[in-house]
Parts: sequence; C-alpha cells; structure tokens
Amino acid sequence: MKEYIMALDQGTTSSRCILFDKSGNICSMAQKEFTQIYPQPGWVEHNPKEIISTQFEVARMAMRKIYATAENICSIGITNQRETTVVWNKNTGEPVYNAIVWQCRRSADRIKGMDETVKEAIRNKTGLVPDAYFSASKIEWILDNVEGARQMAQNGELLFGTIDTWIVWNLTKGKLHITDYTNASRTMLFDINRLCWDNELLEYFHVPQSMLPTVVSSSDVYGVTDKEILGDEIVISGIAGDQQAALFGQCCFEEGDAKNTYGTGCFLLINTGDKRIESKHGLVTTLAAGTNADKPQYALEGSVFIGGAAIQWLRDEMKLIDNAADSLICARAVDDTAGVYIVPAFTGLGAPYWKPYCKGTVTGITRGCTKNHFVRATLESVAYHSNDLIKAMKEDAAGGINSLRVDGGACANDFLMQFQADISETTVVRPSCIETTALGAAYLAGLATGYYESTQDIRMNASVNKSFIPAMEKDKRQELLSGWDKAINCALSY
Ligand code: ADP
Repeated sequence: MKEYIMALDQGTTSSRCILFDKSGNICSMAQKEFTQIYPQPGWVEHNPKEIISTQFEVARMAMRKIYATAENICSIGITNQRETTVVWNKNTGEPVYNAIVWQCRRSADRIKGMDETVKEAIRNKTGLVPDAYFSASKIEWILDNVEGARQMAQNGELLFGTIDTWIVWNLTKGKLHITDYTNASRTMLFDINRLCWDNELLEYFHVPQSMLPTVVSSSDVYGVTDKEILGDEIVISGIAGDQQAALFGQCCFEEGDAKNTYGTGCFLLINTGDKRIESKHGLVTTLAAGTNADKPQYALEGSVFIGGAAIQWLRDEMKLIDNAADSLICARAVDDTAGVYIVPAFTGLGAPYWKPYCKGTVTGITRGCTKNHFVRATLESVAYHSNDLIKAMKEDAAGGINSLRVDGGACANDFLMQFQADISETTVVRPSCIETTALGAAYLAGLATGYYESTQDIRMNASVNKSFIPAMEKDKRQELLSGWDKAINCALSY
C-alpha cells in the first residue's frame, strides 16, 4: 500500500515537495515561491508563516496530483535552507520576528568586533569560520532588538529553530522541538567534537539553553505529523540541511566521496569519514548526514559565491545570450578563450581566498576577443573557481577525491562539465536524477523506517546520466591554470 516517500525541500526562494518511489523516481512534484523581504540594504527576511503555508500547500498539491493519500506515504524527509533563524513563542506558536535568512548581513559588525580568542574558540569548537551567515548572531539580534524578547527567552517562553525545526514543530503541532546534526552544525553554537550545544558559546551570544532544540540523528523515527495536516498521521524520519542532503542523495557515503552543486553559487562538499579534518585553506568543517547518531560523519565544505549566477549575468546584464543553455553553443563555437579570463567576484571571493571586498575582473582582452570567447571564459571561470576548492580539498583530505558527482542547474552544461574534469583532472559524474537534495532527504527518511535496508540498497538506485573523463594534456592544463592564477591575483589586488 505505502508507495512513496515524501521529501519536503524548503529552499531560499521556494518550498517544494517531491514524492519518490522506491527506485528514487520522481512520481509527483509541486513548488511554490514565497516572498523575499528586504527591510534594509543587506538585510533578508522571510515570513515564517508563509514558509509553513507554502510548504504544507505543496505537500498537499503533490499528493493530489497523483491521487495519493496519507496512507500512500511511507514517511517524510525534510531538507532545508540552512542557518536561517526563527524564534517563536512556545505557548502560542507565534514567531516573535520574521525569519532572518542566511544571506542577511545585519549582524556582520557584531562578528567583526569579536576578539581573536573567541574567533579561535569558534573555529575549534564548531569547525566554522566565524560569520554573520550562521545562526548564533541572528538569534542574539532578535533577542536584543524585539521588545520583550530577551525577558521572555529568560522565562523559557521562546524557542529557536532553523527551518527544519520550525517545520517539524508545525507538522507535529508543537509536539517535537528537534533539529538534526547537520543543521545544528551550522548554528555556530554546536560543538562538533563533543556533539552537544556549547555552553561557552551560548553564554557568549546570550542564548538561553531552554530555547534550543534537541539534536537528533539525520535518520530516525522522530514522531508523526498531526493528522489534520495531510489527512492522517505520517511518520517523520529524516532531516538534513540542503547541502548535506545533496551529499547523501549523491550516495557520497564513503570517505573521499565529493559532490559539487552548480546552482546560483556552487557548493562543494567532501565526506571525510569519521575524522574531523581542519582545513588549512579556509574550508569549513561540518557534520554530514548519516544514519548513525553516535558516530556521525564529517565533511569539508567550500562555496563559490557566483557560479550559475555568472551565466545569468551574461544573459540579463550583458545581454550576450538569450538563455543559459546558449552559453554551451557560444563556448563550443571557439577553440579557446583567446587568452581572456573572467573572475566574477561580484560579491567578493570566498574559500580559499576569503576576500569579501574584492571585485570582478577581466584580464587578457585583445582586439580579437569576441562574444563567444567572453561567454566561454565566463563558463570556464565557474570550473576554475570550483577547481580552487577541489585543490584545497585534495590537500586538506589526504586521501584525495574519488570522483566528483555533480548536480544543480548548470551541471546540464556538457562543456562546463568536461572542462571541470579536464582542469581538475578528476572524473565528473552526472547522475540521472539531479534532484539530489530532495532525494537525500527521502533516502534518510526511508532508511529509518526500513523502506530501505541499507545504503547498499540505495546505491542500486544510483544511475549515471554521463561521466566526463579528464582528457586535457598536462602542459595545456598547467598553462591554463597559470593564466587563472594571474587573473585571480589581479582580482585580489583590487
Ligand atoms: P538555485 O537552486 O541556486 O536557484 P539551480 O540549481 O536552479 O539554482 O540552477 C540555476 C543556475 O544554473 C542559474 O544561475 C543558471 O544561470 C544556471 N544554468 C542553468 N542552465 C544552465 C546551462 N545549461 N549552462 C550554464 N548555466 C546554466
């Protein structure tokens, strides 16, 4: 009778629901965008209630589309935009403020003003590079700036949650206040060595312990939905932050397995097994999604701020292409970039450079440079920058990278994927199902209930759409990479 696993995929711009069958095929999907709120430059908020209403609505829509009822849903897995922070009243369920989104920079000065010893403690305990991006300073901001919030928090009347926590709390009508390891590891309050909330950091950010959710494994039977929400009770049994869910959905279960998501930005994660590796190149350490609560796996993570967004820029601002897919035709129309390099550091550079204020740069233009060269150089930049992270990961994780699994909108571009394989000297594998984030949440949920017996069972589902084998000669690669290094140095010197 039970045929599907429901993945609730709560993203930054939309709420989605996918129903998967046992083989990992998409049987139904529904998606709804919600409002982005920009109260001031650099501030980003969401309405927590709209997050819930859109998420529940798409769940019902996805079921309706294929005439599924609660009886047909084996269990629910949740994956979510990470770090985004909600604080609500425990008794009424009313949020005391909008959700402060991961992109929001409102607490950047707070982080900038911290002394080096605290920053060092944060790096050691949480594996993160101290930043306003993570939840800690967002919670503090709400308690300090919303009238009465601090007092209520001290009285034990407020709860904090990342979006997974907020969804589960609403799905269970307040019965469960939980988060999983992957989400906890992005709050900047969780000790990833001892696997517990860290009292010193809680004190430092003035966050009362009573607000915090219980931390659970990413795959376990946590409870059931309230029966009014989806027609009957449904088991909730998987939770993971979006990037860790994608790592799991890509079957990166073993040490050395890595994935890169080519979306607006690129997110590269490598599973480092049960070892916490401290990066020497500015990558962050984070907890990966796994099925063993006592022995979680670790990952190294790095991101490229402008990935597919560079292609959007070619389309929307430069008006060089009509749609993203045309970039492939332009790139293939020429043999190379005629020496042109583009570093699209529109919002500064992240790992391994960490130069937040540098700007985009174009180098090597000569009279013969055409639109096609320019487009090709932009596509190549996505691969070069991802390669900087791959190189850092290869150096940090002594075992190197087994192969690079890819997903996200821009992985559809064969030119980009082949160039990535060539420049990184790593095989790039594109799976048939590129909805890996939702798939990861579904797999975690299915493993907890016995729908899948083991990760081996899941591996059987993994089918490859295309593999890209490195084919560039070493000298050529060195020559191209040295051009990229020069271009990066120009951007860094801005
Ligand atoms: P997000 O989840 O961050 O919104 P998606 O995974 O949906 O992103 O991917 C969208 C991004 O991928 C856009 O920035 C777009 O420019 C880029 N993109 C989509 N198709 C292609 C393509 N064929 N070639 C290059 N880039 C592409």
